[in-house]
Amino acid sequence: MSYSQKAKNELARKMPGRECCQRAEFRAFIEINSSIVSDSKDNLQLRFTTKNASAARKVFKLNKLVFGDASRINIRKNRSSNINNLYIVRISVNTENKKAEEREIPDLVDIGEEHNAVLGNQGLWDCCTRAYLRGAFLAGGSLVDPKKAYHLEIRSSRENISHGLLTHMGRFHLEPGISRRKQWYVVYLKEADRIADFLNAVGAHTTLLDFEDIRVYKGVRNRVNRLVNCETANMSKSINASLMQIDAIRTIRDTVGLEKLPEGLYEIAKLRLENADASLKELGEIHHPPMSKPSVNYRMRKLMSMANKIKSGKCLEG
Ligand SMILES: [Zn+2]
Repeated sequence: MSYSQKAKNELARKMPGRECCQRAEFRAFIEINSSIVSDSKDNLQLRFTTKNASAARKVFKLNKLVFGDASRINIRKNRSSNINNLYIVRISVNTENKKAEEREIPDLVDIGEEHNAVLGNQGLWDCCTRAYLRGAFLAGGSLVDPKKAYHLEIRSSRENISHGLLTHMGRFHLEPGISRRKQWYVVYLKEADRIADFLNAVGAHTTLLDFEDIRVYKGVRNRVNRLVNCETANMSKSINASLMQIDAIRTIRDTVGLEKLPEGLYEIAKLRLENADASLKELGEIHHPPMSKPSVNYRMRKLMSMANKIKSGKCLEG
């Protein structure tokens, strides 16, 4: 089961208790993802199509709650598709007082206005906005598995509805983006924080917990990776430095001889040759008497410059 489906199954089970919210959620289903069709007897129907059985059931239930027995509804399984069942909910729209010639496929705005009488035309309250967003996600939303990426989107073919979504989401400070994809207007969230806020706003609490778990896990893993990378980089840096120092000391040993070095430099040169993988700080600690890292560093630089002079053929006494 996809991550979207899991989230939708949770939201589909949440039935709003208040009538205002039932209307708002039903309205979202209709506005975001429905089309108008004529049936064989030339009656108009709102048709809602989804791959998610629980979303289809919810439209059915909400329709019953909002319209009572006034509307009929059918759920059909589409058997032509082997991969995904397609659930089609048909809701009869009362058009008795319309003449046949006026019953061309209208755009949804007309039907929306017709429905407004029943759905209620009030501005959405906070509770209703949550319900509306829940319905919108169920009708046209998807959520990518947070293990892969942070992406939540709700798509609709209606520009004004998508812009309305931006406003509704803005009420919860979600700051969504909007883009075009073929005939779709896609309202999306790309930040983990915002997606979590959305899931919270619509009451997808089980999904939210899971989402946050994955987020924490990913965060820790990224931090560990960063530390490991950092450590590896530092280690290879100090190993490279050590190899260069050893090379320099060997040059001195094989030309002038280590025993010719002043005592301070001789000790450090010997320690370096014996402890190739020790850091400068560690060399200072094993030195007798212990020596600070800057002192070791100072001596090491002297050895390096001495070796450079030997390699370039300059006089050592210079
Ligand atoms: Zn409400």
